[in-house]
Amino acid sequence: MNLSTAFLDELRSRTSIMQVVGRKVTWDRKKSNQGKGDMWAPCPFHQEKTASFHVDDQKGFYYCFGCHAKGDSISFIKETENLSFIEAVEILASEAGLQLPKADRGSQQKNDKRAELVKVMELAVNIFKDQLTSINATNARAYLKSRGITQESIDRFEIGYSLDGYKSLFSHLKKNNISEELMVEAGLCLKSADGRGLNDRFRDRIMYPIRDRRGYCIAFGGRAMNQKAKAKYLNSPETLLFDKGNTLYNHKLARQSFGNDAVLLVVEGYMDVIAMDSHGFKATVSTLGTAITEKQLSLFWQISAEPIVALDGDAAGTRAAYRLIDLALPFLEAQKSIRFCLMPENQDPDDVLRLSGISKMTELIEGSTPLINLIWKRETEGKIFDSPERRALLDKSLRAIINQIKDRELRKHYGSEFASLRSNLFYQSKGHQIRNSNKKYPYKDDSKGPVSLNTKKSMIVTSEDMEVRLREALLLVVIISNPRFISEFVKELELIDFRLEEHKKILSTVLGVYYQENNQDIEEILKEKIGTHNVSKIFDLKHLRIAPAMLPKASDDTIRQTIIGEITKIHARQGIEREIKEAVEDLKGATDESLTWRVSRAAEANDSANKLQKGVSESELDNHKSLSDGLQALIDNEVWKKKKTK
Ligand SMILES: [Zn+2]
Repeated sequence: MNLSTAFLDELRSRTSIMQVVGRKVTWDRKKSNQGKGDMWAPCPFHQEKTASFHVDDQKGFYYCFGCHAKGDSISFIKETENLSFIEAVEILASEAGLQLPKADRGSQQKNDKRAELVKVMELAVNIFKDQLTSINATNARAYLKSRGITQESIDRFEIGYSLDGYKSLFSHLKKNNISEELMVEAGLCLKSADGRGLNDRFRDRIMYPIRDRRGYCIAFGGRAMNQKAKAKYLNSPETLLFDKGNTLYNHKLARQSFGNDAVLLVVEGYMDVIAMDSHGFKATVSTLGTAITEKQLSLFWQISAEPIVALDGDAAGTRAAYRLIDLALPFLEAQKSIRFCLMPENQDPDDVLRLSGISKMTELIEGSTPLINLIWKRETEGKIFDSPERRALLDKSLRAIINQIKDRELRKHYGSEFASLRSNLFYQSKGHQIRNSNKKYPYKDDSKGPVSLNTKKSMIVTSEDMEVRLREALLLVVIISNPRFISEFVKELELIDFRLEEHKKILSTVLGVYYQENNQDIEEILKEKIGTHNVSKIFDLKHLRIAPAMLPKASDDTIRQTIIGEITKIHARQGIEREIKEAVEDLKGATDESLTWRVSRAAEANDSANKLQKGVSESELDNHKSLSDGLQALIDNEVWKKKKTK
């Protein structure tokens, strides 16, 4: 639809922004001057107690001096109710009594038909509402009461009742001159089996009007009162108005409330929505008795970047969540994710609220699980990863999951998050424990003295530095040259904390590639990502040339032994370093001032020793520079030859 500037100007001039904004804010009476249309309120777009949000009713604009939000009545509706521009215009136009510009003929006819159907539906809403108050609805009212549904909720959700007869609604509609054709097209009546006219579709049911995002009634959900009814819940059929998979129950009210409520909640049924709403969780929607569809997912995301899906605490709820994960994965972006809120076993949100109250629900919502954690749970729960094969299988499925995510940036984050979850899992399963930091260290004993400790440490660093560099480099070079071993040692590699920054970077690239990419091309990808120059830097150490694992004819056994050997030694060294580091941390926390002073002096000494050492090793590296051409040849000829000859 093309909206002309003239139309929009007309719309703005007929709309009072003071009125539009006034529905969402509480004016600061002292600061405002209503006569002049000069209004102030606490800003609806950011948290504040003072009134720095200004509305100029004459000019039709708002501006916040706090967060600098600004705009006109259209943008205000758009922002506060999470609508599209057109939808905001439609709402304002209908309030201002303005006709939207005519669309083309075909869609105009369709719109006319929709408008007619909506009229019929609204008529039905009122008829059902009336019938809920009738003498024939005693059971229905008792049922609602037993479910804790208040009169306030009945009014807010326009709950009604369809009488137990075949012609009840039919005759009401007839009296209102509704054609039989429209009754059928609206999905309210259907042809009777004996061909004698129309029957009501909904009989003896509690009726929940289903409204679209703009608030038009497009369908009904009906809950049977008769235990023997074939279907406990019956929805309207798909009509020109109603596309079940593209509709949310309570869409409009939830959208309007979102923003006041911090989160959008997705629950399973009408009852849950109504219960949540009546307990103050007003930004709550549900699907219509089916699994969440792709379209519904995008409707959630139009309202909130991270809707929270509440799941019944049973196996079916978990299955639904797992299905939703697969549905959502390809669409995930930084601003499009999901969280899951797991209800206690065998309880739905309605139960939780009735049995445990608002605080319990708040707690569940606050403890909601990010999507990635549920994926992790699905892939690992109840499984044992005690063999390389099993771990490889896990890696395979994690890679498949990551590959479903289209957003590149997010894929990277999932890769590293999985890597860290994975390392935690295996770290724990191996029986390693984080060291208890309360442990008393002998170094605290003044007689030994922290200074001597640190002197000792700096000496260790001095003598070991070159060795550490070589070990780390050797491990990297062997791994890069033989990427087929990565899957076998990936958990050990993840646990390694290289001392040299450049080594850390290379290792994380290697692992990142391993997680993200199809394993088949890993050699090529590594070469591309790390770059021949950076690879050559770590190959640029003379000892590596003679390492057995790097010889052209090295057997898989030799390579494996080298990897295991280097990993073990590096881990052992890390253990010592961690001990020392923790000892120093402990000492830093000591209250004895003189001790603190001595430790800090020691740390300084240690630092300068490290700096000195760094200088030495770098100049030593320069001496090795002459070897680099030869090493480059080694890299080119040996390392990548396997790839070429494959
Ligand atoms: Zn603001």
